[in-house]
Order: sequence, then structure tokens, then C-alpha cells
Amino acid sequence: MPALPSLISMMSQLIASPSISCSQADWDQSNKGVIQLLESWLNSQGFQCEVMPLPDNPNKFNLIATLGSGDGGLVLSGHTDTVPYDKGRWKSDPFKLEEREKKLYGLGSCDMKGFFAIVIDTVRQMQLSNLKQPLIILATADEESSMSGARALVDQGTLKARYALIGEPTSLTPIYAHKGIMMERIQVTGQSGHSSNPSLGNNALDAMHDVMSELMLFRQQLKANYRDTSFVIDYPTMNFGCIHGGDNPNRICGRCELEFDLRALPGMSNQALMAEIAAILPRIEEQTGTIIQLNSLFPDVPSFYTSVESDIIKACEVLTKRQASTVAFATEGSFLNQMGMETLILGPGSIDQAHQPNEFMALDQIQPMQEVIRGLIERFCLQLNEQQNEE
Ligand SMILES: [Zn+2]
Repeated sequence: MPALPSLISMMSQLIASPSISCSQADWDQSNKGVIQLLESWLNSQGFQCEVMPLPDNPNKFNLIATLGSGDGGLVLSGHTDTVPYDKGRWKSDPFKLEEREKKLYGLGSCDMKGFFAIVIDTVRQMQLSNLKQPLIILATADEESSMSGARALVDQGTLKARYALIGEPTSLTPIYAHKGIMMERIQVTGQSGHSSNPSLGNNALDAMHDVMSELMLFRQQLKANYRDTSFVIDYPTMNFGCIHGGDNPNRICGRCELEFDLRALPGMSNQALMAEIAAILPRIEEQTGTIIQLNSLFPDVPSFYTSVESDIIKACEVLTKRQASTVAFATEGSFLNQMGMETLILGPGSIDQAHQPNEFMALDQIQPMQEVIRGLIERFCLQLNEQQNEE
């Protein structure tokens, strides 16, 4: 069996293999290098590895690495891609792991290539030849852009396990819920004409004003009708992010578009919200003589919620000595839950350092995370216990 590199060496090789995912094509890269590293290391530890290109993008891959068998078991999941980086704003090369002041710097150090190195290093130290339930390492593509890796897994429907942990950076706090995200665009098409005579056109800006008034009313209703006090911002939010329209003061505006996001609480349906917004528009079209289209800029991410009574949440509360909480960022958690796993988010490093120059993982995050991983593998893969039987 080939020798597995040290934890730091694994982390540095993962960071040295660029895997940016981005909706802008000139940034977007394949994650093949990262997948190949993980595959070879996990193979060396006896895992059965399945590398799956995404149906809509053959340069992007998911990896499912399985040790042991059974219908229960534990998934340890992370994404292989990173966000783009700010050129010139890093103190060191973002693709070269560098240790300074007890911190490991590099693009993806905490979000979240470091997690894989920690998982594999933990697995190496354990005796896992007699698993009662499978241990599965899942590595996904394109979490940072479209979540198309996780979406493909839902469509394939082959990944089965009872519990899952996603090692996103939560500073080692167990997370059981987050809001959903929708990013939408409304386009108003009117009719341009000379400004001196309003009847020569249909003003798209006037119509957009009506649209925005209605949306702000809808936002007030959402805030009044939905509340979840486990969130810092305990109501659904809608933000108008940008607006573009028209060209000249002496022309009736022929076209205007607005982009906004909507973050729903667990229990709310993104599809139902879209339908409610769509229902607002026909009346404004009729009154203003315009055509109004509503489209998603990105596929929506559903909200995520796992009951705090779930065994994996309780186990992680004991292992971390911290109460489960919520976060303001979105993850692949809802997709794993859709596949039937009881999922929580818990990982090393802080989201405060993710998605920005000089991303790092503090060295003191590593050992406690290894203890959590070891504890979960012992609890859900090594011990036969009654909670793992459904009945
Ligand atoms: Zn992440």
C-alpha cells in the first residue's frame, strides 16, 4: 500500500491543485486534480472509489468513496471547488499552503479542502477493518457556483446512508438549519418613444416602480407572517440588488430590469414564493402596457433543516460540547437531506475567513475536528447500536 502523505502535505497538495468554480467562464476550472488526489489517497486506505462526471459538464466530477457496507452508515462530505481569488490582495501565493502564526494560509484552506485532509488523516489512524456500517467520503463539484454536483447526486439517487456531516467552516459548531436562497430577475419590456408625449410609448421604469412597490408589500407580508427565532435575522428577507433601465431623459424608457434575492426560512417553499411573485405581475402588465418576465438567475437552494432530536446532532453536541445552532450561509445540506440522510454542518475554520484574501485555517481547529470525526465513526460505523435500526 503506498504511504499516505502527512496531513499538512495532503492539504498543501489539494490547495496546489486549482479547482475554482465560477459562473464566469474565464474563471471556471475543472476539479479533476483534486478528485484524483482524493481518489488515490482513499484507495490506499481501502475505500472503493466511484468518480462520476456531472451529466451536464464532463470536466467536473463527484467522488463517492465507500468503506464497508450496509444500509446505515455515515457520509463525511465536502466540496472540492473554491471561489475565485482577488489577484494581488494575497500576502502569499493562494495555491501554496503557507504556515504563519499558527495559521495555514491558502485558497480552500478552510473552505474546504483542509477538511478532506483532516478526514483522511483521521481515518488513517483508525482500525476500520470491521465496520458494522459503511463510512462514505463524498466530494462534490461546483458547490460554490451552481451546486450542480449535489443536484446530480439527488438525480442519480444512488447514494444511501443514514447520517451525513458536511465539513463547511463553522468553527466547530454543529449547524442544523440555514435559510434558502433564490436569485431572481424581473425584466420589464415597454415601448420607447419621444418623452414629450407619454402616449407615444409604455414606460418600463414606471412599470418597474409598480413592481417594486408590490414586492416591498410582499416583503412586509413575509416578515409579518413568518418568524424563526433560531436565526439572527429571524424573518425571510428580500434584497433589491441592482437595477438597470433606460438611456436618456428625453426617451420613454423601453426596458428595465431588476435583480433581487429572497432568503426563505426552513419550512417555506421556494416554488410557492416564486408562484406568489409571478401572480403579482399580470395586473401591472395590463395597467402599464408592458411585458414583465420573471426568471431565476441561478437554480434555487432550498432551506436546510434537520431536527435537533436527530442522533447525529445530539452526538455532535456531546462531541463539541456546543449547542447546535444556525448559520446565515447556504450549503449542500438540503440536497443530502433530500437523499434521506440526517445531515448536519460542522467543520474546522471560520466562515469569516472564507471567500476572501488570505483565507486560513487556524492550526488549533485540526485536533478537535479529528476527535469529532473519530467519535462519529465510532458511534455510527463501528458500534452496533439499537438507534441505527429504524424500528
Ligand atoms: Zn464551502
